[in-house]
Amino acid sequence: MKALDELTFDNRFARLGDAFSTHVLPEPLDEPRLVVASKAAMALLDLDPAVAQTPVFAELFGGHKLWAEAEPRAMVYSGHQFGGYTPQLGDGRGLLLGEVYNEAGEHWDLHLKGAGMTPYSRMGDGRAVLRSSIREFLASEALHALGIPTSRALCVIGSSTPVWREKQERGAMVLRLAHSHIRFGHFEYFYYTKKPEQQAELAEHVLNLHYPECREQPEPYLAMFREIVERNAEMIAKWQAYGFCHGVMNTDNMSILGITFDFGPFAFLDDFDAHFICNHSDHEGRYSFSNQVPIGQWNLSALAQALTPFISVDALKEALGLYLPLYQAHYLDLMRRRLGLTTAEDDDQQLVERLLKLMQNSGVDYTLFFRRLGDEPAALAVARLRDDFVDLAGFDAWAERYKARVARDGDYTQEQRRERMHAVNPLYILRNYLAQNAIAAAESGDYSEVRRLHEVLTRPFEEQAGMEQYAQRPPDWGKHLEISCSS
Ligand code: AMP
Ligand code: MG
Repeated sequence: MKALDELTFDNRFARLGDAFSTHVLPEPLDEPRLVVASKAAMALLDLDPAVAQTPVFAELFGGHKLWAEAEPRAMVYSGHQFGGYTPQLGDGRGLLLGEVYNEAGEHWDLHLKGAGMTPYSRMGDGRAVLRSSIREFLASEALHALGIPTSRALCVIGSSTPVWREKQERGAMVLRLAHSHIRFGHFEYFYYTKKPEQQAELAEHVLNLHYPECREQPEPYLAMFREIVERNAEMIAKWQAYGFCHGVMNTDNMSILGITFDFGPFAFLDDFDAHFICNHSDHEGRYSFSNQVPIGQWNLSALAQALTPFISVDALKEALGLYLPLYQAHYLDLMRRRLGLTTAEDDDQQLVERLLKLMQNSGVDYTLFFRRLGDEPAALAVARLRDDFVDLAGFDAWAERYKARVARDGDYTQEQRRERMHAVNPLYILRNYLAQNAIAAAESGDYSEVRRLHEVLTRPFEEQAGMEQYAQRPPDWGKHLEISCSS
């Protein structure tokens, strides 16, 4: 276990130089205070969890202090936003403080979001508000607990610094961890600004540090792109299987590592709704829940375009062709497991699709349905769940098919079935209204609810005593919360 001053830095991205990032110091927040910290994320840096309670912790992650070995840099990138190309973006309100390696030899980027203005701030103020910082923190740690690849969050630091959005709010910072903060948009930036040398340097950097196994392949860059396609297919399959809606799948928000990244107005589905749009500025539903699948491919195509200097168009197209079949295979595998099935049959895809259609038509709670399906033997479970459906004949037909399918699946006890299903079907997810309750309390200075919710979400599959209120459908007010894009 380490103290804060014992972290070891190795700032590999900073060493790429000024063409890739600009040195900027964090702008401190007034009266920094700890809102919440993740012990699990601290463990990634070998940090003793007790250090979160020390004043220096809030000072470091509130922008007041800096390690001597840190090299804070704002990274430059660009990207396709809602389908259109924006030639220059970059870290407008976040800084890569440095890269720390832990005792296991893993490198972690320390990225401080909300750290003030940078050369890439454009019209923005460089700040993040408490509300969005808490949402990013909770989502990162909740997705991780669900087994969905994601950036992590070490802590949220609150403050008294006023920040103007639709109204006056308070500034906050979230310390984000990831093995890399390189986005699809980094490659697009050097491609579209016609800087082939830097682009090659970036590609070498990513290959050497993040995809070293691809070095052994006959065409290392192609192997790396294929791996990126595979990781995205798997990540998006997990989003779809667990009802996660990212909300702003612009290419500048897509990580080169295939992890969930740059949280905006994200949401987990309450009622199942394939057409759900969590970002109320997304008028056309470009990033609606079901569109995330084709958009994943669209984004990979944008990255492929930026890689044309290194890889032939035919090879890129072939690699892109892997995306949909891989997505479908991962998705179906997860959904089979959510249904408690251990074998594969040709009609399983249809079994899943029919169920989702019925859920959609009746507004059935996506998370609780699967959890309850495992609570009891299949026949009893579907009989109890029947009441949630409007189209009873439709549900009965599905239930008959499901029971027959379960009977063919294997010979196991209900105890085994429940255990297996509960291990993949969470009881607790980050519902918007739960986040909203925690944020409202935090905005009035009470951080206990954020901390409690975080604790609950770190063990989403495990029924926790006294936490029933976190496993309920939302109240009416909490069903259609409009999550503002401003953060
Ligand atoms: P996002 O929608 O958060 O992914 O941000 C898109 C771009 O706008 C990125 O380049 C951000 O750094 C920048 N940005 C977002 N919010 C702010 C802000 N408050 N101040 C400065 N830049 C911002
Ligand atoms: Mg972004």
